[in-house]
Amino acid sequence: MINTTTQHYEQMLGLTAPWTVSGINLDTENLRLSISISVPRGVKLPCPVCGKLCSKEDYREERTWRHLDAMQFETIIVCRSPRVNCPKHGIKTVKVPWADNYSRFTYLFEKFAIDVLEASKNITAAIKLLDISWRQTHNIQKRAVERGMIRRKDETITHVGIDEKSFLKGHSYASILNDLDKRRVLDVVEGRTIESAKSLLNTGLSKKQKAGIEAIAMDMWDAFMNASGEILPQADIVHDKYHVVGYLGKAVDKVRKKENKAMLKTGDDTLKGSKYIWLTNPENLSKDAKKTFREFALTELKVGRAWSIKETFRHFWFYKYKGSAESFFRRWYFWATHSRLKPIIESAKTIKRHFEGIIAYLKHHITNAVSEGINSKIQSIKANARGFRNFQNYRIAILFHCGKLSLYP
Ligand SMILES: [Zn+2]
Repeated sequence: MINTTTQHYEQMLGLTAPWTVSGINLDTENLRLSISISVPRGVKLPCPVCGKLCSKEDYREERTWRHLDAMQFETIIVCRSPRVNCPKHGIKTVKVPWADNYSRFTYLFEKFAIDVLEASKNITAAIKLLDISWRQTHNIQKRAVERGMIRRKDETITHVGIDEKSFLKGHSYASILNDLDKRRVLDVVEGRTIESAKSLLNTGLSKKQKAGIEAIAMDMWDAFMNASGEILPQADIVHDKYHVVGYLGKAVDKVRKKENKAMLKTGDDTLKGSKYIWLTNPENLSKDAKKTFREFALTELKVGRAWSIKETFRHFWFYKYKGSAESFFRRWYFWATHSRLKPIIESAKTIKRHFEGIIAYLKHHITNAVSEGINSKIQSIKANARGFRNFQNYRIAILFHCGKLSLYP
């Protein structure tokens, strides 16, 4: 009888010779099943460094590993790991086949824990389901990310995006690097300075990957531009078109605010409450808003002029040829800088200063819109984790959920 039972557990654990189940202890009071594993006397085992079969020297103290529960019984593996004496590497502890070196859990338990963590909205729910501590859960998550990061080092990456992100209620910033083709987070670092951007590009990409990057999307932000110029000298910088449109939108809003203030002084409240209309894409306006908007367009408002300049710039992104895009831009720039609208003139100048990175969009067609999708996912990670005690935990959680890593042991 005992033979078939031990064989059953050996099969369940995927054990192969010389590892065998040497004992099973069912503690019905504490609902605990202990499975003892050992290696028969006289059997040679591989050195963990070179793999050469060596004689056993002695045994380590008894250790336990948590395994998947069998029925309602908490299942524990018990073993005294043998040590071998390798002629080349000395006395070494043999690697057990069911768990990673430093893990207190079996591979199968870790794999299950990863599935539970991925499916759970928050880490607290996962902890309850797994019945292990916060630290143990976090360590499983951390090891999974470390494994995935190592496995990712050789994949080819051609288009990336770098973006800033606030965390801890907007008091601190993080910089995030995304693979735009595979829609995944490559890495996250604290801060948004040139130093943080440089370390992000260095840790998020292997040497080989850095050399293969064709283009990098970013805001018109000096720290990111300089870091990219230094670390990825061959990559084209592409300024994210949504950031550019955002600058023009802010300029229109500044014009509206100033004009509204001036008009209110003369008792004219035409522009009161119109902020939304000027910031919305006309196609998305309601019927009523469209009517109001047409009425505005008929009047000689400064904000109307600012708005037209902003809207006209939309055409830029659709040009196929560099030459035509450049001549369009020259005309647009002349119009914008002769508008006598200070915020519009300023943003036109900013755009001109970054023109190389703006026209590069027509070559690569990349934007950071992918990051926006990831951002909303990060938002829910943040909301469900009740604030991260430190940045590293935040980074691990982001990479675990948004890194598309191969996480299993
Ligand atoms: Zn050896």
